[in-house]
Amino acid sequence: MSTVALITGAASGIGAAVARRLSAGGVKCVLVDLDGEGVERLAKELNGAWLAADVSNPEASQEAVALAERRYGRLDLVHLNAGISGGVDLADFDLARYRQVVGVNMDGVVFGVRASVPLLARSGGGAIVATSSLAGLVGFSGDPVYTMTKHAVVGLVRALAEPLAARNIRISAVCPGFTDTPLVADAREMFVNAGFPLLTADDVAAAVETAFYADTPGTLLIVQPGRQPVPYRYAG
Ligand code: NAD
Repeated sequence: MSTVALITGAASGIGAAVARRLSAGGVKCVLVDLDGEGVERLAKELNGAWLAADVSNPEASQEAVALAERRYGRLDLVHLNAGISGGVDLADFDLARYRQVVGVNMDGVVFGVRASVPLLARSGGGAIVATSSLAGLVGFSGDPVYTMTKHAVVGLVRALAEPLAARNIRISAVCPGFTDTPLVADAREMFVNAGFPLLTADDVAAAVETAFYADTPGTLLIVQPGRQPVPYRYAG
């Protein structure tokens, strides 16, 4: 029986790299993204299922899990990865943008957990990995609202680690540094000119794969260029 994974934010960057990695290992993937064309293209390439949906809408996660069950009959791995950078200036406040960032980065993870746990449990257990950030562990003054949402993801993972472990579901988070994806395209040149090393999307995907099989519930895996991923509590 094949392992089945659901990945949000799968059309680009880290999510697409995870989808490619898992598919190469024989995992059946259900890909979810706001970018319908992108996610359909990748699903066809990987012979997976896809859903064009906005994860800040609670029904999107329910639909994605229903698709996994309809198509593959089970669910084993869930990568709650869809996210957007904040860019919310507290002085010159844009309420719509604020709600959007919180909706995608926080609500999207909560809705994804709620929707997937029953099918993971019915499948005999499994694993959830959320994409947080180094900004989920330290304050990133350049983007306070993004920082808040990524800390919230870490808090959710910590709080759910024990209760989900009791249902044979491991939940963890990856906390990557700057990663060369379209999300940080505007800052890329600055990083390169400053000689600042960037992670590749596949570096993070490898850490996500490790996190899926982490023994300790609630593991927060720090991912930085040129180093092995390290659990937060051992990071010194
Ligand atoms: P990316 O922009 O390449 O990919 C993000 C994907 O999420 C896109 O395909 C986008 O269409 C999708 N998406 C956006 N809003 C959505 C929504 N409402 N519903 C469904 N899909 C939606 O960016 P990435 O760097 O691969 O980011 C993936 C995750 O990694 C994000 O949560 C991001 O915060 C986190 N992260 C990124 C970096 C980095 O430096 N790139 C560092 C740490 C954490």
